[in-house]
Amino acid sequence: MDSCLFCKIARHELPSKIVFEDENNVAFEDINPQAPTHILVIPRKHIETLNSISEEEQLLLGGMVYTAVAIAKDRKISSSGYRLVWNTNRGAGQSVYHIHLHLLGGRAMAWPPG
Ligand code: 5GP
Ligand code: ZN
Repeated sequence: MDSCLFCKIARHELPSKIVFEDENNVAFEDINPQAPTHILVIPRKHIETLNSISEEEQLLLGGMVYTAVAIAKDRKISSSGYRLVWNTNRGAGQSVYHIHLHLLGGRAMAWPPG
């Protein structure tokens, strides 16, 4: 997707603080962090929302979760706790239509989320 913000970040066409990348996924610091650790994990493949995930893409989602957990361990927030969030569509707060997994941690968090 030529015009997609996160596709551009994945292709290094826009500046971002990338913390991890491999052939499938890219992880980078959120530009407006909501916690001391706030990282977004995205697939290189452009997928608009979780609603468009196909059966073949199940493993891609698992890889995103695996990447987020590895970063949480690396940041030493895995014991204290962290939250993985996938906002899907406007009612849940999705603002960028290229799926992304939020990794939030480093502070206490309330439940239920707002
Ligand atoms: P959503 O609201 O779709 O679940 O999350 C989108 C996230 O992308 C937000 O937390 C927002 O701060 C982040 N974001 C939006 N534009 C940019 C950008 O250009 N660079 C980075 N690093 N993060 C962005
Ligand atoms: Zn995209």
